[in-house]
Amino acid sequence: MSSLESSGEPFDPRRNVLVVLHEPQNLVNIAGVVRGMANMGLERLTLVGPAEFDGHRITGIAHRTDHIVDRISIVDSLEEALADTVYVMGTSARARTAQRNYGHPRALAERILDRALDGPAAIVFGREDRGLSNEALDRCQDVAVVPTTEEYSSLNLAQAFLVIAYEILVASGRDQPPFPTGKRSVGPATGAELEEMYGALESGLDYIDFFKSRKSESVMRTLRTALSRSELDGHEARLLRSVGYEMRNVTRRLQDDLARARDRPPDRGDTGRS
Ligand code: SAH
Repeated sequence: MSSLESSGEPFDPRRNVLVVLHEPQNLVNIAGVVRGMANMGLERLTLVGPAEFDGHRITGIAHRTDHIVDRISIVDSLEEALADTVYVMGTSARARTAQRNYGHPRALAERILDRALDGPAAIVFGREDRGLSNEALDRCQDVAVVPTTEEYSSLNLAQAFLVIAYEILVASGRDQPPFPTGKRSVGPATGAELEEMYGALESGLDYIDFFKSRKSESVMRTLRTALSRSELDGHEARLLRSVGYEMRNVTRRLQDDLARARDRPPDRGDTGRS
């Protein structure tokens, strides 16, 4: 297959990734895999001798997945499922012999996408109760093992699938574009903005007598250390500067009010409110 489609868009090798469930016993797990496929952008599913199958129930559990469910192929043997593939990746809860090519999903995701440029590349999942047989694993060039705790290595089938499919999505570079940075996002605060902010904070703290029992130098150093860790942008630095100014302004106003009240002769009979 060519690596360029006629539209000129680079070919998305995920379209050649084939998900194969070997003798799945539980319809809910099939639906879980279908849903994960829709989440992660895989479309081709083959079921080998499923214990039960009902497309309506699957779309009832995994809504809006008809584009996948309508194309599910059901076959009798693994040989049949893998006949056209150029690469097969097995999956296993744990490494059972030293003779297989075990790998973590992150590394093998790169590998399957690379192989999928040349033709159908399959990932095979085993039965819920016994996993893949040795004969089935013999058909796999690599075997992906999702890291788990040692005591509990067997993942639910659909969850194991999701971890691996997620790695394939990330490796494909087709995950969604970076998170929006927000309207307010401006460049990092400049040295001058930071010094103005620290000056305003120090003056504000001084106005509220924060340094009465603390050394201003060490308080300011701690504040600098803490705020330096947050990589403030210009907007944030100006906001903190305003906090400092406001502490100063409010304190000044209160002091003025107090001074005026002291200078004024008491208003007898005046409640101060109209
Ligand atoms: N008792 C079985 C568990 C089967 S779980 C065993 O020990 O093999 C069903 C399927 O989910 C497995 O065949 C495999 O395809 C997948 N799976 C479960 N845990 C996994 C893991 N940690 N890494 C990779 N695949 C896993």
